[in-house]
Amino acid sequence: MKILLQNLTKTFPARGGRRAGKKAETVIAVNDFTFEIPDGMLIGLLGPSGCGKSTTLNLICGLQKPTSGKIFFGEDDVTDLPPEMRGVGLVFQNYALYPHLTVRQNILFPLENLKGKDRLSRAEMNAKATAIAKLVQLDGLMERKPAELSGGQQQRVAIARALVKMPRVLLLDEPLSNLDARLRLQTREEIKRIQKETGITTVFVTHDQEEAMSISDRIVVMKEGVVQQIGKPQEVYDDPVNLFVAKFLGTPPINVFRGEIRDGMLMLGGAAVLPVGEISDRPVTVGIRPEGFVLNGEGALACALDRVEVMGRDVSVVSAHPDSIAPVVRAIISAEDAAAVPVGEVRFSLKPGKVFLFDAESGERIPFGAR
Ligand code: ADP
Ligand code: MG
Repeated sequence: MKILLQNLTKTFPARGGRRAGKKAETVIAVNDFTFEIPDGMLIGLLGPSGCGKSTTLNLICGLQKPTSGKIFFGEDDVTDLPPEMRGVGLVFQNYALYPHLTVRQNILFPLENLKGKDRLSRAEMNAKATAIAKLVQLDGLMERKPAELSGGQQQRVAIARALVKMPRVLLLDEPLSNLDARLRLQTREEIKRIQKETGITTVFVTHDQEEAMSISDRIVVMKEGVVQQIGKPQEVYDDPVNLFVAKFLGTPPINVFRGEIRDGMLMLGGAAVLPVGEISDRPVTVGIRPEGFVLNGEGALACALDRVEVMGRDVSVVSAHPDSIAPVVRAIISAEDAAAVPVGEVRFSLKPGKVFLFDAESGERIPFGAR
């Protein structure tokens, strides 16, 4: 089921309400969203806390009404439909299972409340619950209560419960946040597998960029209620539209410097570190991905080495540079090259595809070279 959000906006009166003599300001939680989610895709809604992710999800499922704009499922305008008429399955961070019911009863619950022509026989309900339990690999645990399950298993029950009615759309709001690191990884792979097998159009909300990048067919990066960029994870990583997006994606994060363009060269700390072609002289903000540094004794970028951190396959060269915004600059190089890291001053050349220029005021990307 294709989903279309059309000029979707949601405002709230500011919390704390009206102050004496002052009109309460409004919060624009979702600001004029227009985008289409193609049928069968898994979309990651990504952004920092408070940027409007949950509100967007609540608008899609109908728990909240938009201030303006429209929502379509396929060709149907669902903007005014109540949640139970939309055919959505919802999964939240806190699994919200019924503690006194078994796994089977929890999964059966949405089916038992079907009315009219949708009513199912007991045998049909059991068959559906059994099939969905198999899909999420809970079939051995059907008679347990939630308290007898791990967090990951509980979340799989919540997913099974959301899927048992075969929703047109599956919505997941930070579903992995309560799980420990290992389970988080395992459960996110599970969710990806289940989504692929069912082909249900899915919106997955998270503030964790790695999670969003690894699981999503497309990511939507949001900031303060405004969509910043939509695209395939790798494309957004390789081609961010602004400094916010560049900083939000990637671990370790992108290194940010104050730089300057002079005579077609990017200058960092008085050194010409990269030719950038036809850009007029101006101050710029420079982003360099950790994998964009190449150890080179003749390299133009000189940093003061602090330490080398071993990470297994790669090593992280931690250094300092006077024009870096952060106290440290992190370069990732292959462990095989670690022996070549000199003491004291370390010099790098740069991979042009891993260097981004941004307007020093607005943070908008300034293309250079082929990009
Ligand atoms: P996220 O899920 O990305 O953390 P939310 O969608 O929950 O963000 O919130 C977006 C913004 O809207 C925040 O500034 C939040 O404080 C505000 N907000 C959300 N729900 C309400 C509400 N019911 N009343 C007032 N403000 C709200
Ligand atoms: Mg939220």
